Amino acid sequence: MLGAIEAGGTKFVLAVSDNNLEHVEKISIPTTTPEETFDKVFEFFDNYTLEAIGVGSFGPIDVNKNSTTYGYVTSTPKLAWQNVDFLGKLKERYDVPVSWTTDVNAAAYGELKKGAAVGNGSCLYLTVGTGIGGGAVINGEPLEGYGHPEMGHIPVRMHEDDTFDGACPYHGNCLEGLAAGPAIEKRYDKKAQYLEDREDVWKIEAYYLAQALMTYTLTLSPEKIILGGGVMKQTQLFPLIRDEFARLINGYVATPALEEYIVSPGLKDNAGITGCLLLAQKEL
Ligand code: ADP
Ligand code: ZN
Repeated sequence: MLGAIEAGGTKFVLAVSDNNLEHVEKISIPTTTPEETFDKVFEFFDNYTLEAIGVGSFGPIDVNKNSTTYGYVTSTPKLAWQNVDFLGKLKERYDVPVSWTTDVNAAAYGELKKGAAVGNGSCLYLTVGTGIGGGAVINGEPLEGYGHPEMGHIPVRMHEDDTFDGACPYHGNCLEGLAAGPAIEKRYDKKAQYLEDREDVWKIEAYYLAQALMTYTLTLSPEKIILGGGVMKQTQLFPLIRDEFARLINGYVATPALEEYIVSPGLKDNAGITGCLLLAQKEL
């Protein structure tokens, strides 16, 4: 059987399935302390005979196999999880291959194999939620180098009507600092989900996200860009982002038709956990 963990800052989704992903069983547990959370993970997985596990984790995490802290959650703002040997704890309990990558790389993998990017060889997945994070699959492999991509923290040009300083503790007005859910909430003093009717809000939001997508297009040339996360539930953003993207790129590179290039997740909220199961399957 396959095991999967989509490890998020507020909840962990755990799943097991047969090796063909035909029958999937899934539960969700709150993310508390590492000790408590891992106890619940073990309690769930101990009922099964796992042959491989796939993990997509919040981060930053260490994905560098040559590093002494490979498999650790590293400098996360969630203090209890800093420098936690996530992979080590799993390996100690279950002597099986474990695939270890970011939550967004796992989601990109899920979308490529079973979601919006089926039939493509590459795709990019961006979540716009509490933070902004991007993952990609290129030539069938999750994109990693020395570390993993941190696509949410790229610089963007400020909108001329935007006087917000930005909310990123590291960079102020990086993409995440200007366009993640908490940035919207700080700028307007209201949660993003209650700003649906404010055209100005989504125009500015689309201005930032389109710049980011242009950067990803120019640097990675993915065959599809999938936008998920809570903020993207505002589906009026999609046409605004596509229009702004077209204006910015100005015909310089050919992309697929934008309605097919910039899209919602085909797996809805299951992109991450499905990707984790598929990454476990890949280990067999
Ligand atoms: P997380 O990033 O923690 O996994 P989400 O992707 O749900 O969780 O992101 C949470 C953020 O998304 C919050 O800042 C919230 O205000 C915003 N959000 C959630 N639902 C909506 C919605 N329907 N419209 C706009 N923003 C939303
Ligand atoms: Zn930043």
